[in-house]
Amino acid sequence: MRLHICRWITILAVFAGCGLAAAKPSVEQIGPGLYAYISDNDASSNSTFLVGHNGILVVDTGLNFIEGGKLLGAIRQVSRLPVEFIINTHYHPDHQGGNGVVGHAAVVITTAFTRDRTLALIHNPQMKSFQFRLANVTFQDQVTVYLDPYSVDVYFPGKAHTSGDAVVYFPQQRVIATGDLFLNRSCPAMDNGSAENWIHALNHMLQLPLEHVVPGHFELGTAADLRRFRDYLSDLFQQVKAMKERGETLDQVRHDVNLGKYADFRQYPNYEATFADNAAVIYRQLQAH
Ligand SMILES: [Zn+2]
Repeated sequence: MRLHICRWITILAVFAGCGLAAAKPSVEQIGPGLYAYISDNDASSNSTFLVGHNGILVVDTGLNFIEGGKLLGAIRQVSRLPVEFIINTHYHPDHQGGNGVVGHAAVVITTAFTRDRTLALIHNPQMKSFQFRLANVTFQDQVTVYLDPYSVDVYFPGKAHTSGDAVVYFPQQRVIATGDLFLNRSCPAMDNGSAENWIHALNHMLQLPLEHVVPGHFELGTAADLRRFRDYLSDLFQQVKAMKERGETLDQVRHDVNLGKYADFRQYPNYEATFADNAAVIYRQLQAH
């Protein structure tokens, strides 16, 4: 079953603020002016920030006031410059619930789809503790942000994790911030996107020069990590497609997928992020074709 907004709210109500890992967030410089912020809370996203001559650009801001505050604290260890731009990779609160803390006056950029979904979240009384800020600028296919002396390419890869993800590429640093299109050594939670196009989107990323890959969650990645995640989704997709064509039911497919090659991947039943859950989403997407 795809994760509806209400399902996300339930999940986040359970997990908000309770870090599943005990370590501190880590900050690593991954190119000229560019830093990866790896969250210590599995329920909150990673972030990426770029420090230019006159201001800062941040990709994703964490879950809420607490997580946004931790991110801002880490940014302030590096620079006192104003946060001028925030890019949100998608509408899930763990990626944008810190917007108001990290950049109360920043220009917020995302897809039109994400802005629409965020409007619904803002009007939901259960979401009051999240520091949302609606996007000031939306785009359809791509936009380039100039943060002197760097440029940042933001694009919509087609339906993937959600129906309106934004992927952020830093050409001077050869770094990509993927949002939840890539989780390092983990099954993803799949919203109402497209697994088939998601694989195409990962193939496209893998054609870019990549020194580092900042995943939506978990440790900083390489192109090899991204390729392995692509292989996981691709293997799963092919298996589910073949089983469905043989006439297997959804329950049979959930049971029969064989992903022993990826035994080290994290699985989170509470996020509907397991091999079987991922298989079920793909089965339903194929059924809807
Ligand atoms: Zn997500």
